[in-house]
Amino acid sequence: MIQTTAVVIGAGHAGLAMSRRLTERSIDHVVLERGEVANSWRTQRWPTLRLLTPNWQTRLPGHDYPGDDPDGYMPVTDVVGTITRYARLVGAPVRTATTVHTVRAAPEGFEIRANGDVLRARAVVLATGACNLPAIPGVADAVPQSITTLTPLTYRDPGQLPDGGVLVIGASATGVQLASEIHRSGRPVTLAVGEHVRLPRTYRGRDIFWWLETTGLLAERYDQIDDLTRARHLPSPQLTGTPEAVTTDLNTLTALGIRIVGRLGRITAGVAQFSGALTNTCALADLKMNRFLTRADQWAATSGLDDELPPPHRFAPTRVDPRTPLELDLTSGEVTTVLWATGFRPDHSWLDIPVRDRTDRIRHDGGVVTGAPGLYVLGLPVLRTRASTYIHGAAADTAALAGHLHTFLSGRTAPSGFR
Ligand SMILES: Cc1cc2nc3c(=O)[nH]c(=O)nc-3n(C[C@H](O)[C@H](O)[C@H](O)COP(=O)(O)OP(=O)(O)OC[C@H]3O[C@@H](n4cnc5c(N)ncnc54)[C@H](O)[C@@H]3O)c2cc1C
Repeated sequence: MIQTTAVVIGAGHAGLAMSRRLTERSIDHVVLERGEVANSWRTQRWPTLRLLTPNWQTRLPGHDYPGDDPDGYMPVTDVVGTITRYARLVGAPVRTATTVHTVRAAPEGFEIRANGDVLRARAVVLATGACNLPAIPGVADAVPQSITTLTPLTYRDPGQLPDGGVLVIGASATGVQLASEIHRSGRPVTLAVGEHVRLPRTYRGRDIFWWLETTGLLAERYDQIDDLTRARHLPSPQLTGTPEAVTTDLNTLTALGIRIVGRLGRITAGVAQFSGALTNTCALADLKMNRFLTRADQWAATSGLDDELPPPHRFAPTRVDPRTPLELDLTSGEVTTVLWATGFRPDHSWLDIPVRDRTDRIRHDGGVVTGAPGLYVLGLPVLRTRASTYIHGAAADTAALAGHLHTFLSGRTAPSGFR
């Protein structure tokens, strides 16, 4: 049996950032990783993926973007390189090829079973990611057997698809990027659009993430957000990272020749039925985008930046064809592939401690797991702030949680200013 003070599970950027924080506080620990460092980026992302956050924002504790293209968007190979170099920089004590099968309560802490090893630790940090599994709606069971179905975790490139039309379900970051890529391969693409977050790639000469950060929106804390459950389940913004920094909204996709339809409701006898509320769904997304742009304009005005920036403007409303079909017969041969771009969910099924709610989500207060002192979770959407959803959010999250963990180990109660 191996005894250590803390165990961090997962060597993605979040687990590694936590390792650095623990080292700073001289807390003895080990990082257990089922694959290699940056395993999710190596094995679960499609090769053409680029970050939708700009390079300057890919910063980790003690490490800023060092390259010569701060305004570019990292391809997945560079993300792997960045995280791998970071592991070396911080000297993280990572044990690769070590899958954690069980974490359970034990006297004075936790027992962790990983491969053949048993570890004991007073504290455990779950940094196993938010996107381990595809979130696929139940209607998927009704897709005819003749159709090839894929998820973003199994998609690699259009070459793996059979000839014929492709129905992409979901128009958030993943859906719009893959719809556009598959369309370029010459296959007819239909995109089913539910609730989405529309944003332009750039506004008034600056990347939209500059605006999201500088206006303070990303810094909004979880305990100050009115509807936290909703914020944590919000779809990713309809953005892609491309060398040309183009906007990839529904108008762009329609102009390319991609057919936009409403949210997929049911599939009955092989016929997919789409919501008739597409116009309203798009109008709501336009409204929310404009609300944010107004906030950005007000911030620029009060910050005295109006003279430095191009003038405010607005984008064309989303155009919806009144003849948009409400049905698509999946048995007709027109569509040969369905791609579920309906989001992701974490996998904590190996956690043998009753800390998950009825929807299988871990109950936590800003990353401090409820009802299990010494247990922490990282890397979930809006964990502590809206920035927690993104790579750079790990800096503040790990600082706060390492502080809490340190206090816990010392036997004191958490400082009242923890939040
Ligand atoms: C398609 C996609 C695009 C994204 N684009 C962006 C973007 O543009 N910008 C941005 O900032 N963020 C982006 N994100 C979000 C970002 O990737 C996640 O927030 C991030 O991957 C989470 O980091 P993490 O370190 O928490 O988890 P991960 O990077 O997923 O790392 C978790 C690690 O835990 C390991 N692990 C899991 N289970 C076990 C186990 N039982 N035992 C041992 N090890 C285990 C995994 O192998 C993995 O290495 C994107 C996410 C996805 C899915």
